[in-house]
Amino acid sequence: MTNSYKIIEKYKSEIMKSFTTLEGLAEPSFQEYKTTQFIIDELSKAGIKSITNLNTGCFGTLNFNKDTTLAIRADIDALPYNDEKTVYRHLCGHHFHSTALLETIKIIVKEKLKLNSNLRFIFQPAEERVSGAEFIIKNGGMENVTEIYGLHVDPELFIGEIYAEKGPVMAGARHFSITMSGKSTHAAYPHLGTDPIVASANFIQTAQAIVSRMVDPLKSAVLTFGSINGGSAHNIIPESVTIKGTFRFLDDENSMLIETKLKNILSSIDKSFGTVSNIEIDKGTYPVCNDDSLSHKIKSILQRDKFKFITSPHLSMGGEDFCFYGKLAPSLFIKFGTRTNDKIIPIHNKEFKVSAEPLFDAIYMWIKILTH
Ligand SMILES: [Zn+2]
Ligand SMILES: [Zn+2]
Repeated sequence: MTNSYKIIEKYKSEIMKSFTTLEGLAEPSFQEYKTTQFIIDELSKAGIKSITNLNTGCFGTLNFNKDTTLAIRADIDALPYNDEKTVYRHLCGHHFHSTALLETIKIIVKEKLKLNSNLRFIFQPAEERVSGAEFIIKNGGMENVTEIYGLHVDPELFIGEIYAEKGPVMAGARHFSITMSGKSTHAAYPHLGTDPIVASANFIQTAQAIVSRMVDPLKSAVLTFGSINGGSAHNIIPESVTIKGTFRFLDDENSMLIETKLKNILSSIDKSFGTVSNIEIDKGTYPVCNDDSLSHKIKSILQRDKFKFITSPHLSMGGEDFCFYGKLAPSLFIKFGTRTNDKIIPIHNKEFKVSAEPLFDAIYMWIKILTH
């Protein structure tokens, strides 16, 4: 496939057209109707008929009568650009992911390339709500898949740089909500009530010891309280306080450990202060963990190309629902360099914009993996 770049070159204007169209469509999670229709129209025009249309997202197979089925997943949703949520933009670069996969499939079909396994293509909705992967799985998108790949644009890595080391690459993430109830009273007579403000302050303070004192220091985790609300006046002890937060972890075992410790500390604070608390913790995501042999495989396939594999740890404490695919088949999540200059604008930032330049490398990478 040394001439892959020449082939891709032929499709440059089509690739750019899809990129611009998908960038312009930018729809919210589970409302990617136009995006899905555009992808299906493009695939149909290329002669691909067997597509499962989920209205928001779709998947299908290029069947080469092989025993193995390699899946590539691209997420398709965008993020709100304004607080009113009336304007959406691709602030996470998902249009890059979907263009790369869409154009890879079209080139395979148009150029009649022979693959070494069947290809399951997955255009997944609602990654930003970490629920689209389960939606795809529930609808049969992972049936018969023997290995799965995904990529994410990475504005910290320069164009040509790839991070695909084995082990964790993204954190597991869980959200929690707490209601701490006390007994309202006059600020001057605290002994006549039960103060949830002081109790919640103690809880938040004590919970800091979970990561610093109870989690193995070699296994990264983070616990953050993002919201605390309670009270309405200077001189009233309120009835209750609500607290919201999230914790992230790179090892599955820390998910249960942090959950247990949060609950234990909360109940001991309740005992000490007389409050009554309720905590709800979502099941969240697992860490995204790269398979050893797939990591090895991609490096051996692409080693003689212009890609530079970053080997020093380049992990993130962000969550990704790609983890759910990894529970069903060996998986590889590739961090794909898109940085063009010294200025790093992080994903989800309103200024974030991904250049089309590395798109051709991404298509080349998929074709190379599929045809090696
Ligand atoms: Zn995102
Ligand atoms: Zn993303």
